[in-house]
Amino acid sequence: MSKNIPKAYELGYQDFYGRDFKVSPDVLIPRPETEQLIDDVLRLSGKAILPGVRATKRVLKEHPLIIDVGTGSGCIAITLSLELLEAKILACDISDKALKIAEENNQKLAGRVVFFKSDLLENYHGAEPDVVVANLPYVDKKWEWLDREALAAEPELALYAEENGLALIKKILSQIYERGWKSYVILEMDTSEQDEIISYAKGLGFSHKRTDGFVVELKK
Ligand code: GLN
Repeated sequence: MSKNIPKAYELGYQDFYGRDFKVSPDVLIPRPETEQLIDDVLRLSGKAILPGVRATKRVLKEHPLIIDVGTGSGCIAITLSLELLEAKILACDISDKALKIAEENNQKLAGRVVFFKSDLLENYHGAEPDVVVANLPYVDKKWEWLDREALAAEPELALYAEENGLALIKKILSQIYERGWKSYVILEMDTSEQDEIISYAKGLGFSHKRTDGFVVELKK
């Protein structure tokens, strides 16, 4: 199969939330729909998202601890660290190569993120976060509508998951459940997966707070 090289890899960068992030074939190219994760965290923090739209009441504490799991290029964590100056932001990834790109982006953009290596939350033994945010791999190779050619240049590790694409999302929900955390859990996933994930989460005692496009917000 010939690989179409996406423009972002040729240029070496991609815009996300108004900033240029360095990308390489070691990381997923940031997608516009992922910006909704940022908006959701800002909304919980009581920040106005668009001019002319009133901010909602802040539900997070004044100096929240936020963890971005499976950070890839670092675009979510770094953006949050620049939009929410009062928050402490941690981010992890299983891939050393991705963490290197994320660190570079953090330096280039003067982000405030502390990165660590971890398979989901496995290596995290710190305090309970106020928010867990994640755009994990959730694509199922068997989806008939999938344009595999369009995704061929991006890392499989960042895209695909077992169990119809749900394996990693279910695993992180179990890890949060096992730790007894009451954190807001803000996850990107395909719209076709949302019903199953929401009922799985409810089975673990989470409540479904909202769904907006690709983003599902849950909390114990
Ligand atoms: N939204 C991406 C796509 O459909 C997938 C990103 C992901 O798996 N997290 O191409």
